[in-house]
Amino acid sequence: MAFLSLERVSKEFGTFTAVCDVDLAIEKGEFVSLLGPSGCGKTTTLQMIAGLVEPTKGRISLDGRDITHEKPNRRGLGVVFQSYALFPHMTVAQNVAFGLEMRRIPQAERTERVREALALVQLSAFADRYPRQLSGGQRQRVAIARALVIAPPVLLLDEPLSNLDAKLREEMQFELRRIQRKVGTTTIMVTHDQAEALSISDRVVVMESGRMTQVDAPYRLYEQPSNAFISSFVGKTNLLAGTWRRGGASSGAEIGGVLLETPAPEIADGTPVTLSIRPEKILLCDAGAGRLDGRVASRFFLGSQWLFTVETPLGIMTVSIPNHGEEPPAEGSPVGLDWSPANLRVIADNAAAA
Ligand code: ATP
Repeated sequence: MAFLSLERVSKEFGTFTAVCDVDLAIEKGEFVSLLGPSGCGKTTTLQMIAGLVEPTKGRISLDGRDITHEKPNRRGLGVVFQSYALFPHMTVAQNVAFGLEMRRIPQAERTERVREALALVQLSAFADRYPRQLSGGQRQRVAIARALVIAPPVLLLDEPLSNLDAKLREEMQFELRRIQRKVGTTTIMVTHDQAEALSISDRVVVMESGRMTQVDAPYRLYEQPSNAFISSFVGKTNLLAGTWRRGGASSGAEIGGVLLETPAPEIADGTPVTLSIRPEKILLCDAGAGRLDGRVASRFFLGSQWLFTVETPLGIMTVSIPNHGEEPPAEGSPVGLDWSPANLRVIADNAAAA
């Protein structure tokens, strides 16, 4: 049995269903992210695990114990919210010690555990400072130390990095992962940032309108999204709507009179399908030398790569190429687009994902 499990958990607010029939099994030590657009039910799910919101239906169990209706303090989980509200009149060490005092841990053990927790988040030198004397990232680390010091069975993080600027946020993502690996605490993080979910997690749970629609390792989620929403929400992609044509040697999707061949599962001739191809899976070549011709509509330099939009007979397609230190085709240039058929994913709802 999984360490933490949710079985058919739902939450209704009046007549509105915020979370619907969620099933999730999390193993000890896993780092799992709940990812989805605003209002899809991520925070409600996390709060049901924390015990701050009571499920309308279903069962939540932790280490074999039914905790569905248990009070939050009895669950003893570590929680870090977006507004990580440190006590302003307490020093860093006092903030971190707070949970241990509440649990009546003796002074000597408390001091030692606070010391360890601050070393873990690399803030040993800041023990006597007050929150106002810290940067945003340092405050964030204090909040994490404060949650971890009680050695919770599960750490719950709700958008913990969303108050930080882009660079600090990226640093803290690495930091969070490093700390979690070191301590091994089972961690569940809510985020609406797909890059963050992909980079930190062992598994990502995608939620849409209260339901979990895919639970997978980051790489699989990116490479084998189970529907069109996920393929464009998790990373960028080009979606092409067409009709499946099943021929002798060549099967594929017919789009605007062009047959895009792809190795695919069993799909009946004439089925409407959507194809997805990632911008980085498309190669730019000379006009006439690829599978499709087009014209560069716009070009953006992103440092490590170039991002192109290309007008083609199939519509505007986005292409990204690594920056090799040479200037690529200018806006208005005719270009060819090429790809390996294996990189075209069939993601129509009525067809199995390729
Ligand atoms: P965000 O990323 O914007 O925080 P979320 O995915 O975390 O969104 P939730 O906060 O879980 O979404 O909310 C899910 C849905 O439930 C939303 O439509 C929200 O308006 C609704 N909801 C949440 N709490 C309540 C409540 N106490 N009463 C009524 N509706 C609620």
